[in-house]
Amino acid sequence: MTTNKKITIKMKQIGACPECDTNISFSKKLFLGLKKTCPECRSELEVISLSPIELDWTYEYEYENEDEEEYDYDL
Ligand SMILES: [Zn+2]
Repeated sequence: MTTNKKITIKMKQIGACPECDTNISFSKKLFLGLKKTCPECRSELEVISLSPIELDWTYEYEYENEDEEEYDYDL
């Protein structure tokens, strides 16, 4: 019987809030575009780089022009 020791490397995944410089740790799997809300300043942030981890504000788009981008195909 072989014993496979699974070595789990726990990498600290910490990014800094661009607004208030608070360190934000990520416990889940990181991916580009991951949304995160800063616990300090409530900024809506998004992962823009993985190594090093960089965060940027998510830009909320205005939905005023949404109607113009709807395509109605009448077949
Ligand atoms: Zn913040």
